[in-house]
Amino acid sequence: MMTSDELTGLLSAFPTTPLGHFPTPIDAAPRLSEQLGITLSIKRDDATGLAFGGNKIRQLEYYFGKVLDAGADTVLITGAVQSNYVRSVAAAAAKLGLRCHAQLEDRVPLYDESYVKNGNTLLNNLLGAITHSYPEGEDEEGADAQLYEIAEEDRKKGFKPYVIPLGPGNPPTGALGYVKCAIELAEQLESQPKIDAFVVPSGSGMTHAGLLVGLRALGITTPVYGICVRRAADVQAQRIAKNCRAIEELIGLPATVTPGDVNTSDAVLSPGYGQLNDAVYDAVLMAARSEGLMLDTVYTGRAFAGLVHLAKEGVIAKGSNVLFLHTGGTPALFGYGDVLNKRLIAGSNT
Ligand SMILES: *Cc1c(COP(=O)(O)O)cnc(C)c1O
Repeated sequence: MMTSDELTGLLSAFPTTPLGHFPTPIDAAPRLSEQLGITLSIKRDDATGLAFGGNKIRQLEYYFGKVLDAGADTVLITGAVQSNYVRSVAAAAAKLGLRCHAQLEDRVPLYDESYVKNGNTLLNNLLGAITHSYPEGEDEEGADAQLYEIAEEDRKKGFKPYVIPLGPGNPPTGALGYVKCAIELAEQLESQPKIDAFVVPSGSGMTHAGLLVGLRALGITTPVYGICVRRAADVQAQRIAKNCRAIEELIGLPATVTPGDVNTSDAVLSPGYGQLNDAVYDAVLMAARSEGLMLDTVYTGRAFAGLVHLAKEGVIAKGSNVLFLHTGGTPALFGYGDVLNKRLIAGSNT
């Protein structure tokens, strides 16, 4: 266990470049709280500023620290067609005057006009990213390998490319942004009633693992529930445990997070990544209609549906103080415009 200053000191060994607005606010959500029988507050990482914000802005402050240190003039990134990560990299590259290759993977079986052309793909084009496609959706190593090939082509043309890899086994650079977020949170929560549970979306796991490592390093033992957006709970838990160890090693922290400390839930994952189900749709409407709070269909809507499930099942007890991390992703909502309009018109929920 260490102080905020000590952890900040360890993080200062890593280069960063400022990209976003911090600290992000924590909002009360009284009308959602009442419906769920808990006291809910929401950490607004959708409000990190750059190009519609989101959690990737914290992660990219560390990645672009490395990009600039390496003297690169081009960055390469891969993700789903409606990836917020890709859009955030395209925005950071534009802000720093760098070229950006955006590789879009065929990860979600959606080919309608909004999914292909609106939301984040529209933003990538406005931001000037050079777009490529990758025909597979479940092949992280393959997607990274094609990025390295594009980088090689660029190198031959005299550019200095930098690949931001997606697959496991790479240094967990982005997670440092969420270790830092744990320090920010600890300071914000000092003057508030004790939080009983944190709920976060768990995708690549950089957010979930970074926050978990940061909180535990500061001696905060509150459970962190990661809601699975892509993989089954057991597979994701192993990934998070590995990520935590890798983050601790990278920073030089003692091994504090144990596998038993990793909580994952996949109760609302079906039918799979980026695909809407009733629980996610209901969660998106509930947040919008109760608080005017916009969640997305891939990450935050799913994570909020997971929170609702945990509260209903009593895993999160009635009356608990719960902090939900809103990781952004709202531009992807427009990518799901056709899918959402169909549901709204059918009136399958009111
Ligand atoms: C990428 C993303 C996540 C998942 O974060 P990881 O660090 O990859 O687990 C959650 N929410 C939104 C909106 C995202 O774009």
